[in-house]
Amino acid sequence: MSKISETVKRARDAFNSGKTRPLKFRIQQLENLQRMMKERDEEIAAALFADLHKSKWVALYEEVIYALHEVEYALANLAQWVQDEPVENNKTSNDQAYIHSEPLGVALIIGAWNYPFNVTIQPLVGAIAAGNAVVLKPSEVSEQTANLFAKMLPQYLDKDLFPVINGGVPETTELLKEKFDHILYTGSTGVGKIIMTAAAKHLTPVTLELGGKSPCYIDKDCDLDIACRRITWGKFMNSGQTCIAPDYILCEPALQGPIVEKVKKYLKEFYGDDAKNSPDYGRIISSRHFKRVMGLIEGQKVAYGGNGDEASCYIAPTILTDVDPRSKVMQEEIFGPILPILCVKSLDEAIQFINERPKPLALYAFSNNDQVTKKMIAETSSGGVTINDVIAHVGVHTLPFGGVGDSGMGSYHGKKSFEIFSHRRSCLVRPLKKEETDKSRFPPFPAKASLK
Ligand code: NAD
Repeated sequence: MSKISETVKRARDAFNSGKTRPLKFRIQQLENLQRMMKERDEEIAAALFADLHKSKWVALYEEVIYALHEVEYALANLAQWVQDEPVENNKTSNDQAYIHSEPLGVALIIGAWNYPFNVTIQPLVGAIAAGNAVVLKPSEVSEQTANLFAKMLPQYLDKDLFPVINGGVPETTELLKEKFDHILYTGSTGVGKIIMTAAAKHLTPVTLELGGKSPCYIDKDCDLDIACRRITWGKFMNSGQTCIAPDYILCEPALQGPIVEKVKKYLKEFYGDDAKNSPDYGRIISSRHFKRVMGLIEGQKVAYGGNGDEASCYIAPTILTDVDPRSKVMQEEIFGPILPILCVKSLDEAIQFINERPKPLALYAFSNNDQVTKKMIAETSSGGVTINDVIAHVGVHTLPFGGVGDSGMGSYHGKKSFEIFSHRRSCLVRPLKKEETDKSRFPPFPAKASLK
């Protein structure tokens, strides 16, 4: 038996022992996770700095805090989530009908590298809350964070129930041969298909948290200054490597110039004249991605930035204007600090543009006019939407987070995480006593039958 098979078997045996069933045990594990984030914040921030040049503030307040809030929310609500949920019975009887949430078994969580702490730990919270064992497979691309997980998690969580497996494609491929009861994967759409194919062999349900090109529409009736400040923040955080970063801007031609000026103004305010010297500006994860992102600028009209330094994986915040929809930068998720602006003649044309492309993970629209934003929501589709801001919907516990179509399948966060890692079991409990009213179901039946 390989080491990976042994690890998964140990997790399954530990789950089968029934250890995770009591609420008390789940709460204790969640409290340990909470303690880990508070006690080890220095080490977590150092790993995120080494992987992505995140400053301590950025690491803690743009990444770790989301996982910490998720634990706090689960701890505050778990006693209620685990309660059986009575449902209306369709008969006047003494039967009890209710839904009981039971753990699925052994879950696999595969993380991505761009928010390597959050996309690994935030789903883990829901899986623990629901009473599962969990095999964690952090992204090998964010190596320091992955190594820290392997060292740190066993110091806080049950070692058999929550093992960490590190490695690249060969290890993940081997892991996917094992049978799991749920797989939550965060990463690219292409690999998402590989995960789902492997899961299908075992009929394992999947939650796929993928990416895509999230559009951002700016209406003419808009406070451009506020809009551009918020967009600049959400686009350039983590050097554009955010799954729900606004990928490109759609606006009418007259707005293009003023938008460029405002975004430039805020880039300077946030990161200074040269973002390379700002402690708050990130780096591209690897030289492979550096080359890919720089390649997207080639042949474009650069209104700001456009330069980079391969040795340090730095790419300057970049604005592209009059972008042709057929150009390379519009064929793939940018996942870097490049903001293309595309001109459309009207709201209708923007909606058509969005609908002609794969369904995005997020969609943003800025307008003072409710009719415009309502129309945008009603006539397009995306995993989630924030109106008059960017990124913000990801932080609301009561809004499930996920994609649709090419941007993903299923969702999590808050109670939704508890639900995806649970089986909602339908239970009917009937008194065992002689029936007087329901005798008619037993044969012998009358010769004639009618529904009239
Ligand atoms: P990645 O390279 O870290 O891959 C993610 C995981 O897939 C890793 O653990 C890796 O080991 C595994 N993997 C890679 N290739 C594999 C293969 N051939 N077979 C099996 N496993 C394999 O991350 P990435 O794919 O570059 O991530 C970036 C993408 O993730 C972007 O599209 C981004 O939008 C998306 N993303 C989505 C969310 C979300 O919540 N929806 C969050 C973060 C990132």
